[in-house]
Amino acid sequence: MHESLTQPVTSLTGIGGQTAKRLEKLGIYRVLDLIFHLPLRYQDRTRIIPIGSLIPDQTALICGTVEFTDIITSGRGSFICKINDGTGFISLRFFHFNARLQKLLEVGSLLSCFGEVRYGFSGMEMIHPEYKKISSKNECITETTLTPVYPLTEGVRQTTLRKAVQQALELYFQSEQNLIDELPEIILEKMNLPRLDEALKTLHAPDKSIALADLETGNLPARKLLAFEELLSHHLSHLQTKQANKQWQAPVFNVNQAAIKQFLQALPFALTNAQQRVIKEIEQDCSKQTPMMRLIQGDVGSGKTVVCAYATLLAVESGFQVAMMAPTELLAEQHYRNFCAWFKTTKIKISLLTGQIKGKQREEILQAIAEGNSQIIIGTHALFQEAVKFSNLGLIIIDEQHRFGVNQRLALREKGTHSNIKPHQLIMTATPIPRTLAMLNYSELDISIIDELPPGRKPVITRAISAERRDEVIARIQHWTEQGNQSYWVCTLIEESEILQCEAAEKTAEKLIAALPEVRIGLVHGRMKSSEKEQVMSDFKQHKIDMLVATTVIEVGVDVANASLMIIENPERLGLSQLHQLRGRVGRGANESFCLLMFQPPLSDTAKQRLGILRETSNGFIIAEKDLQLRGPGEMLGTRQTGQMQFKIADLAIDSDLLEQVQSAAQTIEQQSPQIIQPLIQKWLGNTTHYAEV
Ligand code: ADP
Ligand code: MG
Repeated sequence: MHESLTQPVTSLTGIGGQTAKRLEKLGIYRVLDLIFHLPLRYQDRTRIIPIGSLIPDQTALICGTVEFTDIITSGRGSFICKINDGTGFISLRFFHFNARLQKLLEVGSLLSCFGEVRYGFSGMEMIHPEYKKISSKNECITETTLTPVYPLTEGVRQTTLRKAVQQALELYFQSEQNLIDELPEIILEKMNLPRLDEALKTLHAPDKSIALADLETGNLPARKLLAFEELLSHHLSHLQTKQANKQWQAPVFNVNQAAIKQFLQALPFALTNAQQRVIKEIEQDCSKQTPMMRLIQGDVGSGKTVVCAYATLLAVESGFQVAMMAPTELLAEQHYRNFCAWFKTTKIKISLLTGQIKGKQREEILQAIAEGNSQIIIGTHALFQEAVKFSNLGLIIIDEQHRFGVNQRLALREKGTHSNIKPHQLIMTATPIPRTLAMLNYSELDISIIDELPPGRKPVITRAISAERRDEVIARIQHWTEQGNQSYWVCTLIEESEILQCEAAEKTAEKLIAALPEVRIGLVHGRMKSSEKEQVMSDFKQHKIDMLVATTVIEVGVDVANASLMIIENPERLGLSQLHQLRGRVGRGANESFCLLMFQPPLSDTAKQRLGILRETSNGFIIAEKDLQLRGPGEMLGTRQTGQMQFKIADLAIDSDLLEQVQSAAQTIEQQSPQIIQPLIQKWLGNTTHYAEV
């Protein structure tokens, strides 16, 4: 890539250190990044509009002579200046004014003005327009192209940004850059997209013949091209990572038939066909010398954990340690209990390592891990801490991958890296990812899908009910409990703050305890001590508690078959996939199960539609697709927390049509023009290089 483009923005005239720092907030570091900073909208300064033809809300360049001025003292006080161009007149209104302004805009002055037309108290007016005193109409400067209006950040002026983008574009067009990374003609033609240089001109300096309305829709081919290049570059970068991964060595796991037979016989159930199929895929991966990087997707309750236990057995029987990482302590503890039960008949030593385990006990566990006396280590992100040294880590299992940041994943993998050996990696997610998105986000991974639930599960009957009917719902819980059933009451809050969520849950629990004196009510939330949580959960499991009031911490985790009713407060605030996961906590036993979505009226049309989808289907993949359509992907993948999927231009809510083409375009490029791959990645992901290493 041409050097001038990869320079920091301070290399441009007019951009100092302080402005550069501010531009970082807009994701702008390199000169090149300015090129991809697209205008929010455009102004038309290409022609002078006759005042008589102006309409309200129009933003226009006008030219006229001052006929009359006045100072209005009522209200906020303002200076009014009426101008006329022979076709009509309009008032310019200034709330901030001084003698200098009054002198400049005196009767008889010829002005050119640019601003938005409003319908005011005394007819058409412009408030604080840009203005310039001129001596003849010819002096009124019209631009040859439409003027871009860029998204700003505090302390950076529009004109500064405009000039900077202008310089960046000039450098771009001068450099060889636009030749070496041009998408092949065959792709552009097929998708009806313009060439990049043409697209950049259209977006930053549109010809006046292009209608503003067309420019401001996301469907402009010029914008589509940039979005497509961006998506494609991400995909190509993932493919590269996948390729690079093949160069590492991995431990080879042998299949010990006797141990497997013993393990399967000890299980209280038979594996489903889908589980067996995924197990075969894992076995094949781990028998090769390159590290496995596999994502297991499966709906809530599809039985991913036992599949991971199987992989664990392969590793341990081959003499390697396994680290399993869960997003919450609750879930880590549950995995720990499950593994302990499933490996009960073996000599395998399993350790639980969470932030709550401290002091001497922790030291002992760490030592056992370092010496290899503990073979399976299950924990939360505490697993990443420096102090944790593995003796011979051969497999990493990550549950609920989207909750972990990219860097956390990297850190864990580094733990197991010695010389050029990297451990195998298995990632499970209960969030079904639409095919097109998976291709984009996880194309460095191989994907296995468990698309079958264990036999005997009944779909959960789901109803939306207004919070105005809360009393009815509470009466129903009474009845439900009398019949020996258990239930969940899930409190949600829009606030990110865990403290507030927990407080809300505490208050709700108090109220419910008062309303339902005969029902044994327990509370679990993220700020309780691990031992307290565990106590409550185990009481709930043993039916010493009838109803569990909880925050969304139970989303991933708890497994209580007798709990067959779930009330979710304010479901309209959660993503569909998250609701689906919550709902997956019920419907695990033989009883018919119910989920009541207790919404706060009035519901918007989209919210109604979204809750309707949940009522109609229990298929996580369909729900995820709809969630993508109705909401955009950010929420669904939880990327806002992890910062994984931030695009400069592409917006998956409007660009999902492009996703369909990404894969075949990547193939075309790999076959016909592999030389553009590196420049493309460099261009689009150059300032986020860590991305490519994941
Ligand atoms: P998830 O895929 O949501 O993580 P889990 O692994 O927690 O699901 O499994 C859900 C429940 O189903 C657990 O109680 C597990 O023991 C049980 N289970 C897993 N596989 C089977 C199976 N093949 N038959 C019956 N029950 C199973
Ligand atoms: Mg699970």
